[in-house]
Amino acid sequence: MSAYQPILEALLPPLRYAARDGFAHVGTLKAFDALVLQVGQKATRAGLPAESANRLASVVKGFDAMSAPARTAALKVLIGELKPLVTLPPELEPLASLTKSVVAPVPEPKPARAKPAATKRAPKTQKLFEEDEAQADAPYAIAPPKVPTQQSLRGPLATPLEPTFRIHPRLAALLKKKGLQRVGDILFLMPRGYEDRRQLATLSQLVPGERGSAVAEVRRVDEGFKGRGRRTLKVIFADATGSIAGTFFNYAPWMKSRFAVGKKFIISGELRATSYGREMAHPEAEPLDEGGQSAGANVHFERIVPLYPGFERGEQRGIRDLAHRVVARFAPTIEDPLPESLRTGLGLPSLGDALQQIHFPSDDVPLDALQRWATPGHRRLAFDELFFLQLGLSLRRQDVKVEPGISFDTGPRKLQGVLERLPWPLTKAQRRALDEICQDMSKPEPMNRLLQGDVGSGKTAVSLCAAMLAIEAGYQAAVMAPTEILAEQHARNMQQLLLKAGVEVGLLTGSQSAKEKREARTRLAMGRMQLAVGTHALLEDDIQFAKLGLVVIDEQHRFGVMQRAVLRDKGAMPDVLVMTATPIPRTLAMAAYGDLDLSVIDELPPGRTPIATRVFGEKSREHAWELVGRELEAGRQAYVVYPLVEESEKSDLQSATEGADLVQAAFPGFHVGLIHGRMKAEQKDAVMRAFRDKELHILVSTTVIEVGVDVPNATVMVIESAERFGLSQLHQLRGRVGRGQHASHCLLIAGYARSEVSKERLAVMAATNDGFVIAQKDLELRGPGELLGTRQSGLPELAVANLARDQDLLAIARREALALVERDGRLAKPEHAPLRRALEERWEGKLALAKIG
Ligand code: ADP
Ligand code: MG
Repeated sequence: MSAYQPILEALLPPLRYAARDGFAHVGTLKAFDALVLQVGQKATRAGLPAESANRLASVVKGFDAMSAPARTAALKVLIGELKPLVTLPPELEPLASLTKSVVAPVPEPKPARAKPAATKRAPKTQKLFEEDEAQADAPYAIAPPKVPTQQSLRGPLATPLEPTFRIHPRLAALLKKKGLQRVGDILFLMPRGYEDRRQLATLSQLVPGERGSAVAEVRRVDEGFKGRGRRTLKVIFADATGSIAGTFFNYAPWMKSRFAVGKKFIISGELRATSYGREMAHPEAEPLDEGGQSAGANVHFERIVPLYPGFERGEQRGIRDLAHRVVARFAPTIEDPLPESLRTGLGLPSLGDALQQIHFPSDDVPLDALQRWATPGHRRLAFDELFFLQLGLSLRRQDVKVEPGISFDTGPRKLQGVLERLPWPLTKAQRRALDEICQDMSKPEPMNRLLQGDVGSGKTAVSLCAAMLAIEAGYQAAVMAPTEILAEQHARNMQQLLLKAGVEVGLLTGSQSAKEKREARTRLAMGRMQLAVGTHALLEDDIQFAKLGLVVIDEQHRFGVMQRAVLRDKGAMPDVLVMTATPIPRTLAMAAYGDLDLSVIDELPPGRTPIATRVFGEKSREHAWELVGRELEAGRQAYVVYPLVEESEKSDLQSATEGADLVQAAFPGFHVGLIHGRMKAEQKDAVMRAFRDKELHILVSTTVIEVGVDVPNATVMVIESAERFGLSQLHQLRGRVGRGQHASHCLLIAGYARSEVSKERLAVMAATNDGFVIAQKDLELRGPGELLGTRQSGLPELAVANLARDQDLLAIARREALALVERDGRLAKPEHAPLRRALEERWEGKLALAKIG
């Protein structure tokens, strides 16, 4: 039995209780997510892989805010996750869901944009709506249809739709299926698009291929068979100018009686010219009453009407009618959470007005602005999403900051002493980052900072300066890297730089002998080892520090939140610096890691020869291989990367293995090594070492080439089927070369099936070496989920805001949220009461906020 098993078993009693009688008690579980987090943390220390612990925690994340069915589903997944880890009681065993856990929902990737970005608009004023043209030419496609997932709603927004509103049973069933049960679900259901029904046409004015609306009378009704034997109702509509057929496939019996001959309707839909004549498939048809007025005037016709996501064309009328009633009743009285001064200062409409305009826009709102979600109403809702996200993060950040930590001396004299030990001056960007770190370190609150910079931009050097400052003050520093070879590399580099300083640097990894480990542990616990560099091995329970003052985590995305916490807890509120080489646009980093302060190194140390990147088609790949041959002959080394095929490990392995054979055949005189995802960490490390030590000349790999491993002699990288990789991923891969003094090449081989988007992507790679430009492009092309990796993003689903498009809004939202928390950290002022209520009523479950008040 593993050591963590009894710890995990603490989860079984509440699970058994909740699951009894078909999950009848699921509603009464409180703060279950916190328990899972806590138990997972403990189990991690007892040897449970952190990945498993992370997965357990994310399955029940936001548990309290989930609806009962969502809770049940989450618990089933949790039971499934626990199954291999503990012995399940017999009653839980069969409940395990076979569904794989899906963690941290992220927004769907937005559709590719039609044109490259317009030049950035300078925010001249605070107002968001003064420059209408600027918005009009924003080249973004409209967001894809999306039904938001259930969110926590309280207060009036939680009012059940039934019996407040009378709802036709057919619509009620639909709503139920889609989880739209409460007033708030409808109020915040964003129309995916709009249809212009302001002008009614005559039938002859309708143009094939376009949508239109007209008044017409029923002339004849035919029931018949058509096409692939589908039962079809054909209604002939006519007016003074002509006639068209409305066709309804697989129609329900009641529909026939609707279309009594002689009755007048407003029909709306897309006209098609067919061999049978002019027809509209499934037109929306609205009866006119005796006076010639439509019963649904001002809801469905003679206006711009909303089209809701997730509903079929024929279902639009029902949901629209309901939305109209809900909006009419609730929008005027909905409490506006934004402080009046903030709202008017930004020129935003009130929440009620915004909702009214989004669902049922006035006739004078430009249709194209509506379609692009760029009206003031849309911007208001987008702002709210971003603002509450930032407010939540600011509150959380503040909670971390209140606990007293260490105040280091980072004065000019100390800093100078540290800088003098470096063999070169810091770049401007490094210096700026270090200054920001110094400011944090000198304050008594614990530092919680993200240091971002391209591979080779000199992050390690900066973190070393921070470590030196901590060590000079009599503390220990710990640097955690994701792999052994990386930890070794860090230790070696740091040792070299600190040789003269007389600082003791030690290495702690899993593959050390028992004796080495014991020795390292002792020196660490006694405080003799001042800088500990290691892997996950640093997290083990028997690793104790005498006086841990600074924690540095390299390649932050490779570790979970919990691992960070475990390492931090080995000291008394040490400062924490996390580093990442995944370039994330500042705005996105702010949204996703807003509880961290951000420093960016956006400049490479001098003397690098930039990597020359070229794109080759299948036909010209010979040229690429010639170039590789030349580099090999010159004594250099090469990487060849194959894509992961369809995420199936088998084919991944297959493509790389076959690739290795091809490469070996092409270069018989050279040693070829293979590295792939199915190898154990030690095996991978061994191959990497052999490559580093020039025992291998060519390294064939899938995407697993270890991030950050320095092989300065490798000067060429070939990436096969490059179009299958994301931009940021390509950039990461490319960062493996260009680490020495020799000129380096990155050769992208594009497969036959190149789409426009992938062409554009590869062109970007050839055009720039700037990781941030590339990340920005990636964000625009693929959306934030892809860029951050779904696992660790922690980004809530945004229904209205688009992180690529709404960067200006995000910056303002962040600034305002920070200022507000600065002024009123507990949202206790009376004018902030609505904000507080909104956080609780609408946003808490979504954001997993810090407790306030
Ligand atoms: P990162 O951790 O961001 O990948 P490193 O700190 O490992 O980058 O730096 C990459 C390389 O650049 C290392 O070989 C390092 O010695 C060198 N380097 C770092 N900072 C400077 C500098 N200011 N001037 C010259 N070389 C530098
Ligand atoms: Mg590094």
